[in-house]
Amino acid sequence: MSQTHQPENAPHYELSCDCGKTKMTARGEPKLTLYCHCPSCRDLYSVDIASLTAWSDDNVELPDESTLFVHKLRDKEMTRYGCPDCGMILYGRHKPGMPVIPHGVFRKANDGELPAELTPMLHLFYASRVVDIDDDLEKSQGGEAVGM
Ligand SMILES: [Zn+2]
Ligand SMILES: [Zn+2]
Repeated sequence: MSQTHQPENAPHYELSCDCGKTKMTARGEPKLTLYCHCPSCRDLYSVDIASLTAWSDDNVELPDESTLFVHKLRDKEMTRYGCPDCGMILYGRHKPGMPVIPHGVFRKANDGELPAELTPMLHLFYASRVVDIDDDLEKSQGGEAVGM
């Protein structure tokens, strides 16, 4: 269990796959909430832009891996985890090892809305993009903005 002090009113997210069999929780603040344009995220989630939160292991309670669909990407140090029944991807682990939860998982638990406190802070690996974005967020060309 977490040894990290969490204020009583810290956000608490009860997350679930589409069929409801696989559940997990996140609480407090993510380390990062962002749009990632890197080729690894695009491969891991089969999207043009990954819209994600990265968490400390202390702030999430994940299902036992033996109950999950687990797939490590070929040639990449990235793994995706999902429900074995409905196939929904619930989180990934990227190179530094942090659990990464797509924004869509939070939307699903919140009537389709991304909780306001999880609004993305920046674009990461923008130089690797396949789609141009016209918004006011910082565009970090690589991962240097977050020490990657
Ligand atoms: Zn499911
Ligand atoms: Zn990425």
